Amino acid sequence: MTTVRTRIAPSPTGDPHVGTAYIALFNLCFARQHGGQFILRIEDTDQLRSTRESEQQIYDALRWLGIEWDEGPDVGGPHGPYRQSERGEIYKKYSDELVAKGHAFPCFCSAERLDEVRARQMANKETPRYDGHCVHIAAEEAQRRIAAGESHVVRMKVPSEGVCTVPDLLRGDVEIPWDRMDMQVLMKADGLPTYFLANVVDDHLMGITHVLRGEEWLPSAPKLIKLYEYFGWEQPRLVYMPLLRNPDKSKLSKRKNPTSITFYQRMGFLPEAMLNYLGRMGWSMPDEREKFTLAEMIEHFDIQRVSLGGPIFDMEKLSWLNGQWLRELPVEAFAAEVRKWAFNPEYLMKIAPHVQSRVETFSQIAPLASFFFAGGVPLDARLFEHKKLSAEQVRQLLQLILWKLEALRQWNKDNITAIIQKTSEHLGYKLRDAMPLIFPAITGQASSVSVLDAMEILGADLTRFRLRQAIELLGGVSKKENKEWEKLLAEIP
Ligand code: GLU
Repeated sequence: MTTVRTRIAPSPTGDPHVGTAYIALFNLCFARQHGGQFILRIEDTDQLRSTRESEQQIYDALRWLGIEWDEGPDVGGPHGPYRQSERGEIYKKYSDELVAKGHAFPCFCSAERLDEVRARQMANKETPRYDGHCVHIAAEEAQRRIAAGESHVVRMKVPSEGVCTVPDLLRGDVEIPWDRMDMQVLMKADGLPTYFLANVVDDHLMGITHVLRGEEWLPSAPKLIKLYEYFGWEQPRLVYMPLLRNPDKSKLSKRKNPTSITFYQRMGFLPEAMLNYLGRMGWSMPDEREKFTLAEMIEHFDIQRVSLGGPIFDMEKLSWLNGQWLRELPVEAFAAEVRKWAFNPEYLMKIAPHVQSRVETFSQIAPLASFFFAGGVPLDARLFEHKKLSAEQVRQLLQLILWKLEALRQWNKDNITAIIQKTSEHLGYKLRDAMPLIFPAITGQASSVSVLDAMEILGADLTRFRLRQAIELLGGVSKKENKEWEKLLAEIP
């Protein structure tokens, strides 16, 4: 019997997402329960958005949770490289093979032509899709144009009628009509593969037997299935996991719920409790107990116990569960966890230089610097009354700064300052107009240590969380404002 091999394949394009940990957990449990292996592959073919920092954050966040992988870019393994950006030659070979077999074709259409086709289809109320313009170009002519250096992509052929049956271990056979599928680009003009080609080639070459992925990928499953068929490869077994949802049932999004694993770490959740909570997302223990360890989850794991109703990721429930975990810790272990969280030498050393010059006794430290050891801070709307700016301008400035900070990847004082400054100036204010607003949002106090340093030390997650809370307190952002301010955002350098 072949060994069970599962994987997660995150794209390193932002903060490490709780959804990644959730899918990783289920893949890990599935593999372990069958005595198999769990692999981590980095899907970084989107060169513009992928970063090494984000990749490292994914490793750190998963390891903090206690999720370990048998093979991956950082631990190696027999099927490497495990980073797609290092597998370029492999994809090229398989793309050429598909073209040679007549399952894919080079497409020379310009962006302008594709836009025109799209506009025409939209006007006729048709689904926008590639119109097949280059399908019939003869192989010799295509070769000649490629040799002459003409820019092109490679697209796959798809049937125009009938249905594709997607065999899902949870849903049974899901039928998706072929006429919903576009002639997917497999290789981009820059010579890099798209998700579809790279994912299929890698899952095959890495011996993946079961793919548990988020259900947002179900609509595109037919294209993957077709690729396996074109290559003559055996398909892995498929499981489309229900998506995590906000309490209002919408798809989990950072606008409504913090989604970064590091946020929960900084808020003082125990990794065991967090993992336990993710295990409760759509799944339950046979005896329905709420609190369980990873080892217990693996022992009792049964994929058929996943229920398809969208599991709700609710911070209040998570907090409740975390409380259970905390209370059941032996008191020495509790104290050790508190030290690890924020009373460790590394964190204290970051804070020390800023408090040392401002206190006369140690007993003054806690009142001055308590916000370094908090999640949110107590907010008072009166602290946001501004000499120059109206209430609306205050909200606008804070929101634009928050959006800019949400996109900031290199979190340090200089970059934070530049964002506040540029955003203020773009709106016609000065840095010193913005600071009296940032100050209470971050510290909850009228005076304390330098707030720009504090933001760097607190980190991106807590800083953004506090700004978001301040904006909420001041009335939030209406749909209309959201639209208008997003336009403004795009203009800020
Ligand atoms: N790179 C994809 C992602 O970021 C992988 C999806 C899959 O598991 O196939 O979610």
